[in-house]
Amino acid sequence: MIDVHVHEVGTRDGLQSVPFFVPTETKKRWCSAEARAGVGEIEVCSFVPVRLLPQFADAAEVVAHALTLEGLTVAALAPNLKGAQRAIELGVHKINYVLSVSESHNRANVRRSTEESVNDFARVVELARSVPEGRRPKIVAGLATALGCTIEGKVPEARVREIAAQVVAAGADELIVADTVGYADPASVRRLFKALRSDVGAMSIKAHFHDTRGLGLANVLAALDADVRAFDASLGGLGGCPYAPGASGNICTEDLVFMLEAMGLKTGVDLEQLIALRGEIQEALKDQPFHGTIAKAGLPKGFEKAA
Ligand code: ZN
Repeated sequence: MIDVHVHEVGTRDGLQSVPFFVPTETKKRWCSAEARAGVGEIEVCSFVPVRLLPQFADAAEVVAHALTLEGLTVAALAPNLKGAQRAIELGVHKINYVLSVSESHNRANVRRSTEESVNDFARVVELARSVPEGRRPKIVAGLATALGCTIEGKVPEARVREIAAQVVAAGADELIVADTVGYADPASVRRLFKALRSDVGAMSIKAHFHDTRGLGLANVLAALDADVRAFDASLGGLGGCPYAPGASGNICTEDLVFMLEAMGLKTGVDLEQLIALRGEIQEALKDQPFHGTIAKAGLPKGFEKAA
């Protein structure tokens, strides 16, 4: 039994900000090794137009490979119906449809209002429902900038709850609530996730935190208090912010696994394998900044993973 699910997004959120094309073989090796280490779900790529993000030009090949990995849930990001269509054709298990709660951020990102994105999301759900049951992907609504926005600043909790209610009404199977720009603090996290939990009942809510201002793991702890049991993370904390050079990216997968296991919460992930993989990927990505501390400091003497 797994107590807390750790999902890898470095292959998407991380690679998105790497300024050169990472070879397909490296991406495949990364997915294979994470699956082997026990990571149950990976967001392997993003289905955006190749001219906008050439990094994911090989998305079809990476998805095809990931689908051969036993026990792995293969997720992909889609920002619109067209991307979702491609993801469905390729047979991914989960589509993470991302829209920003903050109106300005959504416009800057996908050039449409949040309301238009919610309507588009409803069409994605409809499309998925036309797929025969055994091959039908889960449709996840990712709420970006749910805890703050670089353009609008504070994002009202009421606004997040309203958009969450809309995507749930549109047929979302799960929610991802994202602190896209690293503005959250433990108190705001605890408040928002408790409110969302009371709004959506038993539906799975995953937290997606960035460690931009050093509060990533503190926010995880607050989300655990609010009964969140699934987290996105990126190997080596890869993935900075284009507007804040040098800033760290997602919370670091290996540090997250370390914290959870040390607390006695089973993740099913082998920490030694993860740390070895980090070294390998860091070498493959040359001078990209890697974050996190457990790989540098080593495991504490006498460390025992959750029993
Ligand atoms: Zn992110």
